[in-house]
Amino acid sequence: MRNMPRVLVVEDEAAIAELIAVNLRHSGFSPTLVFDAEAARREVEAQVPDLILLDWMLPGESGVSLARSWRQQERTRAVPILMLTARTDEMDKIQGLDAGADDYITKPFSTKELLARIRAALRRRAPLTGDDAVTVGDLSLDTATYRVTFKGAELKVGPTEFKLLHYLMKHVERVHTRGTLLDRVWGDHVFIEERTVDVHIKRLREALGEAGAMIETVRGAGYRLSPAGLRQKQVKTADNPAA
Ligand code: CA
Repeated sequence: MRNMPRVLVVEDEAAIAELIAVNLRHSGFSPTLVFDAEAARREVEAQVPDLILLDWMLPGESGVSLARSWRQQERTRAVPILMLTARTDEMDKIQGLDAGADDYITKPFSTKELLARIRAALRRRAPLTGDDAVTVGDLSLDTATYRVTFKGAELKVGPTEFKLLHYLMKHVERVHTRGTLLDRVWGDHVFIEERTVDVHIKRLREALGEAGAMIETVRGAGYRLSPAGLRQKQVKTADNPAA
């Protein structure tokens, strides 16, 4: 059935997996359950799902390791990954996001929250409406071809970072609070923590390399994209060749 988003649920606790599957089916999704990393890899090789719900603690290979490897592969690079975990430690959370997860849900979670986050992740992944090409200095982004280039060289940018960059490039020089970015880019300010924005900004800067200097942190306010950030960096480098 064409319009039912396919969700791969990777969860070794059968009771939790079944509960998630029942709720997903009830809400118009088409879930597939697998209980370990090996089966998850086979399933994704056979068919790339629309979204992956991935438990952190799996027998054998961990969810974090799986997320990292899917992010590195071209065909799975853009699939939203939601990590499920019993861990509440902030460092674990950051590790999960750094591995390439788009969001993070701590067990026990409410079904309502899980569904809201799945829908938000799918909205983020949905193509941006209309073809749009934006250029700021040497940085260009094209929503039609899903490409980001800097000085003509293509950069690899993940799906959330792509949307975030598109929004920032469309509103150059303006300072955006984390709350605004959650509303405009994530489409959900209720369930997603503001810290998530910081993690994606960090990933975006890394993906942009030299052009990452265009994304400025405005203390106490939020973030801004400004070509001046890059110029300042270049001037500093020119003044001080040893730096
Ligand atoms: Ca588990």
